[in-house]
Amino acid sequence: MASASTLPAPDQVTVPRLDRDPLPAASLDHEQLLVRRGRRSGVYTVIAVHSTRLGPALGGCRLHAYPHLSAAVADALRLSSAMTLKAAAAGLDLGGGKGVICLPPAEPAPTGMRRREILLDFADAVAALDGAYVTAEDVGTSADDMVVVAERTPHVTGLPRSRGGSGDPSPVTAEGVEAALRASSHEVFGSRDLAGRSVAIVGTGHVGSALARRLAAAGAELVLADVDPAAPRALSDLPGARWATPEQALVAEVDVLAPCALGGIIDDRSAAGLRCPIVCGAANNQLAEERLADELAGRGILYAPDFVVNAGGLINISLERGGAYDPGRAHAAVGAIESLLERIFRMAEFAGITPLAAARRIADQRLSAAAPPRARSSPSAPA
Ligand code: NAD
Repeated sequence: MASASTLPAPDQVTVPRLDRDPLPAASLDHEQLLVRRGRRSGVYTVIAVHSTRLGPALGGCRLHAYPHLSAAVADALRLSSAMTLKAAAAGLDLGGGKGVICLPPAEPAPTGMRRREILLDFADAVAALDGAYVTAEDVGTSADDMVVVAERTPHVTGLPRSRGGSGDPSPVTAEGVEAALRASSHEVFGSRDLAGRSVAIVGTGHVGSALARRLAAAGAELVLADVDPAAPRALSDLPGARWATPEQALVAEVDVLAPCALGGIIDDRSAAGLRCPIVCGAANNQLAEERLADELAGRGILYAPDFVVNAGGLINISLERGGAYDPGRAHAAVGAIESLLERIFRMAEFAGITPLAAARRIADQRLSAAAPPRARSSPSAPA
């Protein structure tokens, strides 16, 4: 590992390989993109602020090994715009942003002092944005990691319950996914009762495992899959759950496919193989391309928009800001995902569009009604 003294000064840098792997600049509409090499760790951090129109851009910090930096940049750009939609559709006064810590491809999940250095470097990048971006935990990071981040910046949320925060958002995200599943089940089967419904959960990490437990308690029949061979051990006590490979679970003949791993799981090939009437899960950016929503609708598959389904964690964390966190309030707010999704289904039916397009319409209406950030922050700016 290079020592801090041999590393170049932290700075915003040009992104390597963009000549060979160009980002679609014409389709980008982000407010800020910060790419910075950590002074202590030498690890690159990417923070994308998509929009602060409705408030500070809140989004988790993903710690992940990427094949190259431009893949991390693309992830941050994609995920941050999804956060704008998520906050806007959920009715929150928050914008959309995302942090990505880009581990080198071969580096295992860092621990000890290495992890601390990486997190402090990330925290410095958050601080540099001066409140435009507020971070939280995400895939690869935890509430405890956010305590380290809080040493360098106040713009952090999702702190542990012992620190007055809202703690791990995953169980609350799973609660929201279950609410979305009830709405989807009602739409397709005419009943919200999940007893006897078969659900394939692909990815049994923080959210997927909490969802599995909730659905098992509701009487659903589960097909579970994860790339991690140790995953079945953590859920070995679930009655009647059947384990499959991720490939098998994706094409299982079930009532619901619940993608709960990473994004892009539904592409042209997998969409053609689906044998479920509902796709409703926690993963961000489940569709490799948005046009696949039309493809699924054409095949009679109800796709519940991911940024509506998985908003529970964000709703939960938003309640930590500016006051004492109240789990009861969080529970009520997350339950509202069920009625929001039903409204989206009605709107889609009425307008003859997909639920994804309807959810976007709801988010876009809120965004276009809000004042641009500069006009809000500067009283002397022209209206
Ligand atoms: P996690 O890292 O705890 O779990 C992801 C799981 O997916 C892991 O067990 C991993 O082994 C597995 N996995 C990875 N690739 C896979 C593949 N190809 N097939 C099957 N399994 C695979 O993450 P999480 O916190 O549970 O989040 C899951 C998804 O939900 C992510 O897309 C995340 O962005 C999204 N999400 C999470 C929250 C939250 O509160 N944690 C909120 C909103 C959205």
